[in-house]
Amino acid sequence: MEKASPGYVAASGPSHKPRRTRLGALAGVIWPQRSLITGREVAGPGALEPEHWSKLHFLSDPLCACCGVPLDLAVEEDQLCGACLVRRPVYNRARAALAYGDVSRELVLALKYQGRRDSLDLLARWMATAGAELLRDADVIVPVPLHYFRLVRRGFNQSVWLAAAVARKSSAEICVDALKRIRATPIQGGLSAEGRRRNVQAAFRVRRGQKARITDKKILLVDDVLTTGATAEACSLALKRAGAQCVDVLTLARVARPRTVPI
Ligand SMILES: [Zn+2]
Repeated sequence: MEKASPGYVAASGPSHKPRRTRLGALAGVIWPQRSLITGREVAGPGALEPEHWSKLHFLSDPLCACCGVPLDLAVEEDQLCGACLVRRPVYNRARAALAYGDVSRELVLALKYQGRRDSLDLLARWMATAGAELLRDADVIVPVPLHYFRLVRRGFNQSVWLAAAVARKSSAEICVDALKRIRATPIQGGLSAEGRRRNVQAAFRVRRGQKARITDKKILLVDDVLTTGATAEACSLALKRAGAQCVDVLTLARVARPRTVPI
C-alpha cells in the first residue's frame, strides 16, 4: 500500500484544487513554482513531479523508540533497535521525515547548495509531522551550526533555515546561535561511523552567553540529515554539559539502516 505523502495533494480533480487568491495566482504567473529536483515548472501544491513523489520514502512506525531507525517488527511499545540496546546514544530521541535516498538526497542538495528556500515550508511541514511528539515537548529549538569559515563560504546554514521553519510550526522558541562549532572538521562523506565520531568529537560548544537559555531546558536539535548520528551526539553532549534537561534530534532525512552495533 502506498504511504500518504504529507503535504502533497494530487493535482487532478476539481475537489483537490487549492484555493488561490488573486494575488497568489498572479504570484504563480510571475514566479512559477519549480520542481525542487529538476527545476521544471510544476503544477499543483507540491513542488515535485509525481514520479519523484512516488520515490520519496516517508518514515513511519514501527521505529526504534530512541534513534528512530525503521524496525521490521515492533513487539512491544517503546521498542529499541539492537544498537540502542547495546549503547544508548547521547541524545534522547531522534526522528526524521524521510529515509535518505536518491530523491531526498536531491532535496537536501537543492537546499544546501542551491539555497532553495522555497522548499522550506513544505520540508518543515514533513519534519513537524514526523517529530510531532518531540516538538510538543521542546522548550528550545537549536540548529546544528556550521564552522565560521564554511558559513562564510556558503553564505548560509541550511540547518538554521530548517530550524526556523520548524519553529514557525511550534510554540518552542528558537536559539540559532546556542552552539558554536569550534573545530572546522573535514567533510564527513566517506568516513566510517567511528571515523565520523572521532572527526566531530569536541567540535561543538555552547556559547557562554547562551548557556542560560539551555540549562534545564528540553532541547530539539535540528539538522538536514542524520547519517551515523556522530554530529548529533557531539552536539547533544555539548548541550547536556551545559545543563540541558534532554536533547531530541529532528532531521529532514536519515540513513535508514541501523546504527552499527558496537560488539
Ligand atoms: Zn535505535
